[in-house]
Amino acid sequence: MHHFTYKDNQLYCENVPIVEIAEAVGTPFYLYSFATLKRHYLAFTAAFEGVNKLVCYSAKANTNLAVLKLFATLGCGLDIVSGGELYRGIKAGFLPRKIVYSGVGKSDHEIDYALETGILMFNVESFDELEHINLRALRLKTQAPVAIRVNPDVDPKTHPYISTGLQKNKFGIDMQAAIEGYKMASRLDNIKVVGIDCHIGSQITEAEPFDNALKSLKALMNELKRLGITIRYLDMGGGLGITYGSETPPSLGEYAKAILADLDDPDLQLILEPGRVLVGNAGILVSRVLYRKLGVAKDFVIVDAGMNDLLRPTLYNAYHAIEPVEKSTENLIVADVVGPICESADFLAIERNMANVKRGDLLAVMSTGAYGYVMSSNYCSRPRVAEVMVRDDQFEVVKKRENYKDLVTGETLPAFLNDGR
Ligand SMILES: *Cc1c(COP(=O)(O)O)cnc(C)c1O
Repeated sequence: MHHFTYKDNQLYCENVPIVEIAEAVGTPFYLYSFATLKRHYLAFTAAFEGVNKLVCYSAKANTNLAVLKLFATLGCGLDIVSGGELYRGIKAGFLPRKIVYSGVGKSDHEIDYALETGILMFNVESFDELEHINLRALRLKTQAPVAIRVNPDVDPKTHPYISTGLQKNKFGIDMQAAIEGYKMASRLDNIKVVGIDCHIGSQITEAEPFDNALKSLKALMNELKRLGITIRYLDMGGGLGITYGSETPPSLGEYAKAILADLDDPDLQLILEPGRVLVGNAGILVSRVLYRKLGVAKDFVIVDAGMNDLLRPTLYNAYHAIEPVEKSTENLIVADVVGPICESADFLAIERNMANVKRGDLLAVMSTGAYGYVMSSNYCSRPRVAEVMVRDDQFEVVKKRENYKDLVTGETLPAFLNDGR
């Protein structure tokens, strides 16, 4: 459910016609709906009502400060994967005791920053990392709260680039080794074992993999109990999928049921790290048609947004619905929607049944609130686009469009190029 709907053939975000925003801020731009973001968060927490839980929004899906602030204000926690996300999270008002830190490659600086901030826990992904966090904590004369991210080897049945809980993936520690990891952790003076963690993948459209992962984690927790190691936090990660096209992911209720089915210890706090499911359908990318071009084999719709603005189609072959912002014709065409980047992989859609658009028309690339702007780049020296948020009948730019000067910020010419030789 989202708040991008047509009224009289005009696409609105809540109560603002998108055409108006395009006129005011230019194209392309990302557009987020306040009401949709809020509704998704409230629906997610409602599905786990009465459960001892902490919902930690996975920042990397969309790190815009306005989005973060909105969730922080609702009492949400944060799942981060870098020092930069910690910085943004603190700036947006998240409480450190509601922040968990995941990722296989935390640097010294990032570990120290998180220790000094006093986050809830580090989700540790290797023995090496465990020993190293212990050393950093010793230096800072503190104790690092940790969970071990275990790899339950369950197949999330999603795109290989976004499956993370298989033995061949770089994430987590396998179940057997995790026991050794916990034994080691409990011997380290500056480590405090507090949790167990997994995150099996993203855009998961079945409930079963979550249930399977939980069963594995529970078995491990029982084993740990026998060893005298108690776990306070059970972090089940994120990964619940959304509908981009024809997918039918489990409802929030079914998802919660799969996770809660085997959860019977009221002292254990459940941590969830939803990303995509909170923000994915709450955002769109608005782009203008630059040209039509009838090739020998294909009909092309050339738009002003490219793979540097939205990488998902190129990287994952992802499907995003593309809708006209103003419906003017019932005529359909079959076309490739492509951007201005000099790469054949620069496409937003391939052989798509779509409106017969012409130069100047606006298109909405739907469900781009997650892994959209955050994955954008300056490739081909294209300034990053603007981000806009709508609330009811108001809109505001929440990240201004970059300009050419921004593109060269921080670049300097070495003296040896300046001496004329
Ligand atoms: C990316 C990520 C998430 C969020 O995944 P979604 O599929 O967007 O819900 C949660 N936890 C970790 C550790 C992640 O890396």
